[in-house]
Amino acid sequence: SKWVYNFGGGDSEGRSDMRNLLGGKGANLAEMASIGLPVPPGFTITTEVCAHFTETSEYPDDVAKQVEEGLKHIEQITGAKFGDASNPLLVSVRSGARVSMPGMMDTVLNLGLNDSTVEGLARQSNDERFAYDSYRRFIQMFGDVVLGVDHYHFEEILELAKEDRGVNLDTELTAEDWKGVIEQYKAKIADEIGTPFPQDPKDQLWAAIAAVFQSWTNQRAVTYRRLHQIPEAWGTAVNIQAMVFGNMGDDCATGVAFTRDPSTGENEFYGEYLVNAQGEDVVAGIRTPQNITVRSKEKQGSDMPAMEEVMPDVFRQLLEVRGLLEQHYRDMQDIEFTVQGGKLYMLQTRAGKRTAKAALKIAVDMVQDGVLTEEEAVQRVDPASLDQLLHPTLDPEAERKVIGRGLPASPGAASGAIVFTADNAEKLANDGQKVILCRIETSPEDIHGMHAAKGILTTRGGMTSHAAVVARGMGRPCVAGAGELRIDYKSGVLRAGAVELKEGDLITLDGATGEIIQGHVPTVEPELSGDFAHLMEWADRVRTLKVRTNAETPTDCRTAVSFGAEGIGLCRTEHMFFEADRIVAVREMILAESEEGRRKALEKLLPMQRQDFIDIFRIMKGLPVTIRLLDPPLHEFLPNGEAEIEEVSRSAGVPVEQTRARMLKLHEVNPMLGHRGCRLGITYPEIYEMQVRAIFEAAVEVHKRDGDTIVPEIMIPLVSVKKELEILRALVERVAQEVMEHHTQKIQYLVGTMIELPRAALRAADIAEEADFFSFGTNDLTQTTFGLSRDDAGNFLPSYQSQGILEQDPFISLDQEGVGELVSIATERGRKARPGIKLGICGEHGGDPSSIRFCHETGLEYVSCSPFRVPIARLAAAQAAL
Ligand code: PEP
Ligand code: MG
Repeated sequence: SKWVYNFGGGDSEGRSDMRNLLGGKGANLAEMASIGLPVPPGFTITTEVCAHFTETSEYPDDVAKQVEEGLKHIEQITGAKFGDASNPLLVSVRSGARVSMPGMMDTVLNLGLNDSTVEGLARQSNDERFAYDSYRRFIQMFGDVVLGVDHYHFEEILELAKEDRGVNLDTELTAEDWKGVIEQYKAKIADEIGTPFPQDPKDQLWAAIAAVFQSWTNQRAVTYRRLHQIPEAWGTAVNIQAMVFGNMGDDCATGVAFTRDPSTGENEFYGEYLVNAQGEDVVAGIRTPQNITVRSKEKQGSDMPAMEEVMPDVFRQLLEVRGLLEQHYRDMQDIEFTVQGGKLYMLQTRAGKRTAKAALKIAVDMVQDGVLTEEEAVQRVDPASLDQLLHPTLDPEAERKVIGRGLPASPGAASGAIVFTADNAEKLANDGQKVILCRIETSPEDIHGMHAAKGILTTRGGMTSHAAVVARGMGRPCVAGAGELRIDYKSGVLRAGAVELKEGDLITLDGATGEIIQGHVPTVEPELSGDFAHLMEWADRVRTLKVRTNAETPTDCRTAVSFGAEGIGLCRTEHMFFEADRIVAVREMILAESEEGRRKALEKLLPMQRQDFIDIFRIMKGLPVTIRLLDPPLHEFLPNGEAEIEEVSRSAGVPVEQTRARMLKLHEVNPMLGHRGCRLGITYPEIYEMQVRAIFEAAVEVHKRDGDTIVPEIMIPLVSVKKELEILRALVERVAQEVMEHHTQKIQYLVGTMIELPRAALRAADIAEEADFFSFGTNDLTQTTFGLSRDDAGNFLPSYQSQGILEQDPFISLDQEGVGELVSIATERGRKARPGIKLGICGEHGGDPSSIRFCHETGLEYVSCSPFRVPIARLAAAQAAL
């Protein structure tokens, strides 16, 4: 078998579509080399070797030989020789999984240096200081990553050396100083691990390869994979590549760039670099990098010169690469490069992580430039990410007490309480608090806290620092590198000039401007025209699924319509019963002992319900509206506490004792499976009668007022037996008839049911005889299919997920195998019994992209979801259709 793939020297054995085998980094290095970009030669050990190694702690038979051949390939191209004292080949060893896992795994640079090759490097570079600095960096990295010697040991030695020499900066140490440090490093390692630092480059190489494979299962990587649902089985590849040095003098540099602005999507080259520095220095955020273009330098008001000014020739090479990459990949790329002796080398390219706003703009721009088709653009934007665009931003009119400014690293606005540690962020967020994680800088260890926080603030690092990259990926607003702010972890304060804030104090971040604001700032609704409207229009052109919304308040209905909802798929009338101005009447109705008592209370409710429906019908302007009759168990409406019991008793004119007795009677052991849904309608038909009357009277009224023709879709919940629906359908028809006769007006309407119990799904054929439509209530259907309580599952589901019993929370993403099979069965049987029966879904899954794909494939007509998910559903439905 082939375990090793070469690249470089104008050719490659791999391609960009081989990322599963070569990892993202390896696949794209191969691709870049084969399209003629300047890539230092190297080879990739496949992810299959990782899988084998993880399982057996051994390598497949042929790997050693193929690695040897890979080294020869590099030697041939570079002319250098691994381990050769006069012309040594040095390599980097880097991980690279199928999807990028920033900073999660380990890297070793300058591998191949030892006591003799370091002299060769010194002669070759004509720079002894550089050579010994490289050697000590190598020992430090290798010692830490491969040999497991804690990096503070090395830092301690280095600090003492500087103290000894009376200097502050590493750069002030001489070659002789480094030689001394190296001896101490080696002694420390021998001391810590009991064997000397390996001098044989081959030993170094194999140890580094093993360390990268092992890093796939380190704690950080495991946590990251869990958060991002990346299977362990994927493994990582290892990339071994000839070193190029960005730290060999002032005509050397290292940098990272995005071919377009990853934050706004503007078609502007955006990047950062450091002169005379080695790879990781930029990402690590230790030195503040400089801008690549003059334009972004000016935008940021930086006074440090841009690469465009300092290294015009390199800048031209980079611009050319930018053009070639975008043309080739037809997407925004995120690149890493090194400049050695004025020559540019590419070390990485990949599709750049971007904010939702940028994704949208880039996709739309590329269509307008003829690079992408509309369909391709529709597929380029992650539906779930639209969420970021639909949420409010800071009210531009509101007063802002700006206390500092940083880089606008990830847009959106967030207010919350200051926390200084990731653990605290997680803890407080679990308690339901909104928090802003404030760090000097973040590292992969902070991921959980960044996830829990509403926003992230750092005082150090650039637009490509860890905080910035991760926040953009997560869709969290982030202000990075706010250099004038001071965070003091010890005393737990954040200082901004004269302002001193403590943990728990409120701040607001504006990720679009980089402003840091004291206190809470109100927000405004997002702008839904422009790029957003274009993409949605293209999505609407290709999708076949309709998108409705679950809404019952006028505000929600309006929001949903503005987001493009094509009707209401679920109006939960019980939500209307909770309104403060009617809850007493509702309670009176429930607590009534007799039908007569109930009717009296229902009469008070009728005009309010009618007004609810009038409001909704007027907003929806003739779009379909599915109204579900009362569903939840009555006890949910019962009074809480003495005062409420007294109030209800007084209003109903019954003694308090009677109310109490009635409450006792209504108590249920298992209310979710109790007296709810259509069972209420069967036992207390007067409740449903009132609701139906309100609906039809509202339809008459709106027709009279606006001329809109309303076709109410009346939906009966929790049906499991055909007879239930038969009885309730007759009730609806009777009341409808009465209203229509009374007003001498004909109103078309549909009567249908939710399919939310397994029996209903299985008996869909006979139920369909009574139903004009089915709406899949996949919340209850999931609950009852799994026998898993919607309200209690949160306690143990996480453990089911971490043990791999369930891949995803079935209440979020439809269990397509089990619950999905019931949906399919009901669809098929329902259609057969009543061709043309209308089918939709209104469980939470109606807003989940993968569940939407399932609905499309099953042939439903519409999905219905909460208002903010409507655009997500439109886009997901389009992607499902492509
Ligand atoms: C459902 O069960 O899926 C549903 C939409 O109804 P509810 O969530 O109101 O029970
Ligand atoms: Mg339900």
